[in-house]
Amino acid sequence: MSKLPNTTTSIFSVMSQLAEKHNAINLSQGFPNFPIDERLLQISERLLSTNIHQYTPMVGLPSLLEKIAYLTKENYGRELDVSSELLITTGATQGIYTAINAIVANGDEVIILDPSYDSYEPSVLVAGGRPVRISLNDDYSPDFNRIESAITIKTKLIIINNPHNPTGKIWKESEFEALETLLEKYPHVLLLSDEVYEYISFIHPHISVHTRPKLADKAIITSSFGKSLHVTGWKVGCLIAPERLMNEIKKVHQFLVFSVNSISQHIISEYLDIVDFSEIATMYAHKRGLFQEALKNSKFELLPSEGTYFQVVNYTEISNKKDIEFAKDLITKHGVAAIPISVFYKNETDKQMLRFCFAKTDETLLAAAERLIAI
Ligand code: PMP
Repeated sequence: MSKLPNTTTSIFSVMSQLAEKHNAINLSQGFPNFPIDERLLQISERLLSTNIHQYTPMVGLPSLLEKIAYLTKENYGRELDVSSELLITTGATQGIYTAINAIVANGDEVIILDPSYDSYEPSVLVAGGRPVRISLNDDYSPDFNRIESAITIKTKLIIINNPHNPTGKIWKESEFEALETLLEKYPHVLLLSDEVYEYISFIHPHISVHTRPKLADKAIITSSFGKSLHVTGWKVGCLIAPERLMNEIKKVHQFLVFSVNSISQHIISEYLDIVDFSEIATMYAHKRGLFQEALKNSKFELLPSEGTYFQVVNYTEISNKKDIEFAKDLITKHGVAAIPISVFYKNETDKQMLRFCFAKTDETLLAAAERLIAI
């Protein structure tokens, strides 16, 4: 009997393979196609021949933990206990999986807000939990009445993702206030906050759960250096949680991973001394502007992209096909790959939307836009 009977090849692999076959410009999967920072390369080359090749401590390289604590204080004003509240993980994916498997027991319910990132549900299912998937509002803001109706005595966790993949939505202060009120009313419910796009916001600043003490005390927060430093293949991220939760998370992590790749941890630790995260938002703001401007005269309707490196578009003026079919046509007939939004929903809600990733070189974005405006 399969624990994940409905899990098949992910849409990201399907679209990327189809894009390759048809030599299409790939704006589907969320990873940069531009070179990494030259300084990061130099640090890598220098450190590779030094003594960085053995296990690090289970929770992570001490200097990296210290630097994350420093960043969390600098960016969010939150003071962390380095020895008990931090864990380096093999990307945010492993952090999310480990946290869920440490916290969620057989029969526990986990509220997931759709459209949602694809790793949440399987992680809950492997833990023996029950995913309770409820839709965000039409503008992708949270519907607190719907969330409250979904809470039961068995609810263990609510997962939020802000800035949001796939829609680029960023939560407002009033929404955090509503979440605080809700979780005060239901103190048995914990929070998992996926903030892997924390440094990429355009319209209003990202509000982190780190800055909300009422929530932070019951939250597990995940970040990803893959996203923040344009090295998605290195798979290094971190979890931050209060000690009582982190103690349980470490028990699972110890036997799933023990210690994360030492080389990446050493390199990232040194690079954190010189990197300026504000440059990341500036760089992506340029790419977002370039892509949006280039699509201005297209038949696609551009939805607001408040954060992340995704642009969602509506194509109802072009076709009434289902989004998966339209995305396939876009590759085979027009040479551009995107991700259909319905795959992020449990009930496959199809509003005829596609997600484009603009973490690409300017040339790639302009070449894709040229094909898109011709449709
Ligand atoms: N959460 C979200 C919302 C993501 O978009 C991604 C990456 N696509 C992850 C988590 C996983 O991050 P990582 O590559 O660090 O495992």
